Amino acid sequence: MELDLPTLMAVEAFIVAISSLTLIAACPAGPDSRGRWWWVTGGLTMTLALALILVGFARSSDTFAVAANIIFCLSAAFYWTGARVFSGRRPVYPLIAAGSLAFAALCYLPPLAAADTVLPEINLGLTAAYLLAGGFEFATSRERLFARLPLAILFFLHGFLLAFGSVESIFQELPFLKLVALLSWFGAIHFESIIFSTGTTAFAIVLVRSRAEMRHRLVAESDGLTGVMTRRAFFEAGVPAVAGHKGKHLPVAVAVVDLDHFKSINDRFGHAMGDAVLKRFGELARSMLRDGDLVGRLGGEEFALLLPETGLPQALEIVERLRAAFEAEGAVIDGVAVGATLSAGVATGSPDSTLDAMLGNADEALYAAKARGRNQVERAPSRRDGRPALTRVA
Ligand code: GH3
Ligand code: MG
Ligand code: MG
Repeated sequence: MELDLPTLMAVEAFIVAISSLTLIAACPAGPDSRGRWWWVTGGLTMTLALALILVGFARSSDTFAVAANIIFCLSAAFYWTGARVFSGRRPVYPLIAAGSLAFAALCYLPPLAAADTVLPEINLGLTAAYLLAGGFEFATSRERLFARLPLAILFFLHGFLLAFGSVESIFQELPFLKLVALLSWFGAIHFESIIFSTGTTAFAIVLVRSRAEMRHRLVAESDGLTGVMTRRAFFEAGVPAVAGHKGKHLPVAVAVVDLDHFKSINDRFGHAMGDAVLKRFGELARSMLRDGDLVGRLGGEEFALLLPETGLPQALEIVERLRAAFEAEGAVIDGVAVGATLSAGVATGSPDSTLDAMLGNADEALYAAKARGRNQVERAPSRRDGRPALTRVA
């Protein structure tokens, strides 16, 4: 059986429509799916453009062919905008309309009216520009999710093929309404369009699902009150992090932080104020520490920090900065002079020490800080085996 281009385009139109409508059903409404309506609109306008091209062929009608090309360009602008919005950026409305308006002007305004022979490449060039811009949106998005990569590749592939098609039509001087062979760049573009629309749908669904999964994991792994990691998440990430540092002979530091006289804060100002103090500490720690640092709530008003690639002097400096900032922030909370402070112990450990052993050492230093009057940071005494001399039970 021989396949001709119009048959392929009819199949393409159905597939594009169905795959864009799939997005509505498969991506639940919400911020994870932002951008999906632009793609649904892009898919449906592309279907309309394909249908108009086919009618244009059947009737040898310039009017249909021009309308199809204008809508085709607009559909690429919708796809580009979808890629922008999916990547967390805002739509640029004037640019959405710019391509198709420019093309319409070339077709209809007498002073500008271009020769029929250059119209296909102008339209393909504009459409390619939108798709390459879409690929750029995904390639430069900061979100660290796998689905971004195939989405960027699909946009770039589609954009480059359209750009090649426009180059081909320059050399072949294709008249506007001529039906081309299936085995040409145009034929390839229509085959690849099917890959583009099904592929972008599939990976948009993967992107949306992985976002939801990441959000759920984040909620499960972070402490509801303070926003720092739960004890379990801290150990799950911290144990391999310490082992990795030791393996590479890199320094790593830990600290145990305990809020001072917290029972008395609860007793004097109420449990809600105690919670507000804990919350303030969580916000402060998260805002002051670097991206790779870990902060976990060990329980009650006790927290642990893990500072990668940090030696003891630098760690003492970082924790001292946190202590001073908390003393300033904790002086008055919600208009009440609470005077909250913290004490901390910092430890680094020997090449073979574990996270547990390092936290034990830091805990010992914390005790020393408490004993010396609180609101201070102490360093753990250096010990050759990296084991704590004393393991606290409570
Ligand atoms: P120190 O300076 O020696 O650390 O004294 P402290 O009072 O902070 O220590 P203690 O261990 O005696 O008291 C801790 C208090 O923290 C007791 C407990 O009720 C309170 N606490 C634990 N978790 C929470 C919480 O989620 N919210 C509030 N508001 N209080 C909590
Ligand atoms: Mg305490
Ligand atoms: Mg405590």
